Amino acid sequence: APVIGVLALQGDVREHLAALTAVGAQARPVRRPAELDAVDGLVIPGGESTTISKLVDIFELREPIDKRIAAGLPVYGSCAGMIMLAAEVLDGRPDQRGFDGIAMTVRRNAFGRQVDSFEAPVEITGIDGGPLHAVFIRAPWVERVGAGVEVLGTVLDAPTAPPAASGRRHDAPAPVGTRIVAVRQGNLLATSFHPELTGDLRLHRYFVRLVGAVS
Ligand code: GLN
Repeated sequence: APVIGVLALQGDVREHLAALTAVGAQARPVRRPAELDAVDGLVIPGGESTTISKLVDIFELREPIDKRIAAGLPVYGSCAGMIMLAAEVLDGRPDQRGFDGIAMTVRRNAFGRQVDSFEAPVEITGIDGGPLHAVFIRAPWVERVGAGVEVLGTVLDAPTAPPAASGRRHDAPAPVGTRIVAVRQGNLLATSFHPELTGDLRLHRYFVRLVGAVS
């Protein structure tokens, strides 16, 4: 079985370890470069991307992870993990930095305060059996993708309440529309939502299969 690490600096590490184990991977937490060396794939969990970014530097994992990504390591980022895999982040903190990951622009906390958290069915290209029940928690969306990025899933963003008096934090309300919430570029996979919280193991199975095909 492939050995899959979960970046264990902050966020919902345990849930990913459990989901990976349930689909037959050897799942282990990664906090040190030596632990990273031993994995065939890596999951970056949901949590808080600004915190994860800081801790990545403190734990001296930035360069090792960038190197493994450049060498083809399969990585799956969920929510904050998606933000960590984005080439460009809108509404991020000035000091937050992601890995040399997917050619995409993501917007943090994109769905707005009035829909901080919501759930929606999301059809994912390459995953059979009907839409995933997707859980979004202060989730990003993908605003633009570059060449080589495949869009795997979208959701309809339809906020029910008008923006608060202060408006969206950094710009005018985005028009309601179809938002990209799942992408893949080569061995890198990212979702705005949290499959690890639902008991639906299909996305983790998809990732484990991807890791198995590479390693
Ligand atoms: N809003 C968080 C961030 O910016 C992501 C939230 C999550 O991972 N559930 O990192």
